[in-house]
Amino acid sequence: MGSREERHRHSHDLVPLAALISRELKMEKMEKPTMRYGCAAQSRKGEDYFLMKTDCQRVPGNPSTSFSVFGIFDGHNGNAAAIFSRDHLLNYVLGAIPPGLGQDEWLQALPRALVAGFVKTDKEFQSKGKTSGTTATLVVVDGWTVTVASVGDSRCILDAHGGGVSVLTVDHRLEENAEERARVTESGGEVGRLSIFGGTEIGPLRCWPGGLCLSRSIGDMDVGEFIVPVPYVKQVKLSNGGGRLIIASDGIWDALSSEIAAKSCRGLPAELASRLVVKEALKKRGLKDDTTCIVVDMIPPNCTVQSTPSAPKKYNKLQALFFRKKSCKSAHKLSKKLSAVGIVEELFEEGSAMLSERLGNDDSNNQTCGFFVCAICQADLAPNEGISVHAGSIFSMSSTPWQGPFLCTDCHDKKNAMEGKRPSGVTVA
Ligand SMILES: [Zn+2]
Repeated sequence: MGSREERHRHSHDLVPLAALISRELKMEKMEKPTMRYGCAAQSRKGEDYFLMKTDCQRVPGNPSTSFSVFGIFDGHNGNAAAIFSRDHLLNYVLGAIPPGLGQDEWLQALPRALVAGFVKTDKEFQSKGKTSGTTATLVVVDGWTVTVASVGDSRCILDAHGGGVSVLTVDHRLEENAEERARVTESGGEVGRLSIFGGTEIGPLRCWPGGLCLSRSIGDMDVGEFIVPVPYVKQVKLSNGGGRLIIASDGIWDALSSEIAAKSCRGLPAELASRLVVKEALKKRGLKDDTTCIVVDMIPPNCTVQSTPSAPKKYNKLQALFFRKKSCKSAHKLSKKLSAVGIVEELFEEGSAMLSERLGNDDSNNQTCGFFVCAICQADLAPNEGISVHAGSIFSMSSTPWQGPFLCTDCHDKKNAMEGKRPSGVTVA
């Protein structure tokens, strides 16, 4: 669609994350935020699942490398995909990050690992031959950096202290997302509403075959393969003013806008806040759907900062640094957009469904240990086995230079299917 090029043109402020973090650590000595979190849920169909894990470590055994993960999985047509994703997605993501990275490189590797982990989860679940599908919204909080990956229509919002409410996910509902409708149609799917007698069309836009309202999900082997598990990923960094994340399934968002959800629980501790958001949604709409809400507070270690109405003064130093950097073009591979609103820095944002765009051209990352692994499933590849994510054909190691990540045959087949290059995976017995 040419949109990628455009995005590149628009992503003006390019700063390597590593440089950003190391400079800032020198300047600011920012301590980690204190984390407080809570979850509340009201079930109707029993297909919402969640994950809260605050004891993860980048380097096992080293508590100073700890990070937290939160996730919501809103299943449909059964709960198997939601349960499988809750139990495996995080491990598959972490398994796609090369070992031995420092915090800055680890955070840089995370967006790509999230793509690999989501696709692997989908592939592994589908291989079990079970029907059902799920949305997946996974949120990784490491220090002041928040990385969100999402397929489907669960949502994560950020209420940054002094910075207002922003949405960190996009809606993969066909009804709301014209770009996704175009992608699905181009990959061979049909988009339309159900119709009753007399041709009256009812309900939201759906994708056929299958009749799913979502354009991306995990599982769903009985719909077209253009319903892909490739997540939209966004990475932001909060100032040390802190902020609140609200992660919830569509049971909340069908009833409440992001602003109202944030406003309804401001000033309350996380656990109470999550319960209040659920209550507010039920008050508005009744219990029509599974309704799950996680609230995560990132609180400055020095809590007096939180009572400051706007960004702390010393932040300006940091901002000046960003603006100075703005004029110099960085050749870094991942686009690092800094919206420089002063409270939240946008470090990374990408939503393309194309694996060749999402797995990038990085030619070092996959080669860390001198052997080759599939960029999606991490299976070992024999030297002549890998297929470049950028090529459509078998890749000969001897005659062609190293070209980006490689896929195993299975994952390459899956990539082609997702891009509409093989007939729909729906098998008719
Ligand atoms: Zn593979």
